[in-house]
Amino acid sequence: MVDESILSIQGLSKNYGSIKAVDALDLEIKKGQVFGLLGPNGSGKTTTLSIVLGLIKPQNGHFKWFGKPVTAATLRRIGSILESPIFYPYLSATDNLKIIADIKRVSYDSIDEKLAMTGLLERKNHHFKTYSLGMKQRLAIAAALLGNPEVLILDEPTNGLDPQGIAEIRGLIIDIAKEGKTIIIASHLLDEVQKVCSDVAVLQNGKCLYSGKVDFMTGDGLLLEVMADKPELLIAALENCQWATISSREKDHFLVQLQKDNSASDLNRYLIDQQVVLNHLTTKHKTLESHFLALLKNKA
Ligand code: ATP
Repeated sequence: MVDESILSIQGLSKNYGSIKAVDALDLEIKKGQVFGLLGPNGSGKTTTLSIVLGLIKPQNGHFKWFGKPVTAATLRRIGSILESPIFYPYLSATDNLKIIADIKRVSYDSIDEKLAMTGLLERKNHHFKTYSLGMKQRLAIAAALLGNPEVLILDEPTNGLDPQGIAEIRGLIIDIAKEGKTIIIASHLLDEVQKVCSDVAVLQNGKCLYSGKVDFMTGDGLLLEVMADKPELLIAALENCQWATISSREKDHFLVQLQKDNSASDLNRYLIDQQVVLNHLTTKHKTLESHFLALLKNKA
């Protein structure tokens, strides 16, 4: 089923003292998506992933994996490299994966297959300490794939890698996605999300600024700022619109992203047809992409 829910998050919040690491977050991730959690450092990506993996408890909100509350059995359907596994430097890749297979209680049968998939088969008998950073990261992905999870979670998978290592990891993610797995990637790199993800949620200060197709975000459509007499009618009308989406809201100001080839007049006309009266409309001349880049700049 194309629209099968993999992860559904509602109203998730986690505070550390006065810091709102995750702030009333809603997300929907569907089967087969390569879903990017995109945001600058400190935007709440790792905290969100830690909560849905059951590593930390939220103060508020709920989440469901595969349409159900989380159980130990559910977590076995998910492979993650949230924290890199500890590999033994003087053991080979194969022996390290055997230890992880024992911990996960899965057989050794698929170890070679996972090493082949991650391009490490020829080096399988070499000590881990002789591996490059990129190879270590690929071994972590091989470890996460043991037991054939349906979902793979990667946190900043290309951090610290050189351009070749980055290209290899991105190619690997695309190959894994082709097998039909759902992949969730936390990244602060717009370019990375554009290259490998089908869908994205942009996070800032634990809040979601935009959630939708990557194409939509990086297209060259207009970004408009609008206000309506009845904001709830505006939200409802835009939920049913294929070519306009709300990318953020600040009190009664909404930023609305249009798809390429749609104009401000198209939006105005559509909203009037939907009985929504705007009292403010300005063109921001920015796509979500430049909006996100500005966001990153502000954080730098
Ligand atoms: P990064 O890419 O830098 O890891 P992130 O988007 O994954 O960023 P988080 O690591 O989830 O963001 O952090 C969100 C906010 O919560 C930050 O302000 C961070 O300092 C804070 N935070 C996270 N973990 C803790 C903790 N254990 N104690 C206190 N504050 C924390």
